[in-house]
Amino acid sequence: MDKTILEAIDAAAEIWSRAVFPVALTGAGISVASGIPDFRSPGGLWSRFDPMEVATDKALRRNPLGVWQFLLEAVQVFVRAVPNPAHEALAELERAGCLQAIITQNIDSLHQRAGSKRVVEFHGHCRSFYCNSCRAAGDVGRVAKLTRADIPWTCAHCGGVIRPEVVFFGEAIPEQAMQEAERLVARADLAIIVGTSGEVAPFSVFPYRIKAMGGRVIEINLGPTAYGRLSDVRIDAPAERVLPELARRILKPHAPAIS
Ligand SMILES: [Zn+2]
Repeated sequence: MDKTILEAIDAAAEIWSRAVFPVALTGAGISVASGIPDFRSPGGLWSRFDPMEVATDKALRRNPLGVWQFLLEAVQVFVRAVPNPAHEALAELERAGCLQAIITQNIDSLHQRAGSKRVVEFHGHCRSFYCNSCRAAGDVGRVAKLTRADIPWTCAHCGGVIRPEVVFFGEAIPEQAMQEAERLVARADLAIIVGTSGEVAPFSVFPYRIKAMGGRVIEINLGPTAYGRLSDVRIDAPAERVLPELARRILKPHAPAIS
């Protein structure tokens, strides 16, 4: 890594080491190295599916087949993905008491699979399924076996469409996740933004709130983002390279540098 990035990592490690209640805010960028292309990127799922046609509350009722053509691909991408060194570094920092929680927009469960315990899933997840009409639970064991011939997956009780526990466009953030996120943000004295460009509220507002209460902000993102000058330290490099380096500096501050 080049010198300015290493200097930024040193500065971030110093801020992080002094924080009492650090909270990570993560988005799609942290999972790209796990084989999950950002839905919004070229080649991502949104370049082939129109989110308004396949990921809205209305689409669930009007276009169950289109929704499931999309979900079948999305769920299989998540099943094949494995946590990368960025997820693992955050889990290690939590175990060492150096990270209080993760608030994530991701629905891929990779933080939990890496070993993180306190994860607030702002947009839900794909670990459970239910009927959009009668709320009956869908058998999650079926998901891995679903083929094109089985979709749309419908409810055995009422014929409604089965959906993942994911927040679709136009739907509210789950109440419990919202409350938990609010509690964490109110206590946090450091926001570590990873792989999220700050364009989707209310999630994008959290680091501003932490900063307004006297906290600090570290940003690990590739390329320019909507956060502009908010961050105390901005590291423009891939999270899977930056976070393990940061963890090493925070957990073993006297070890010699290897880069
Ligand atoms: Zn049903």
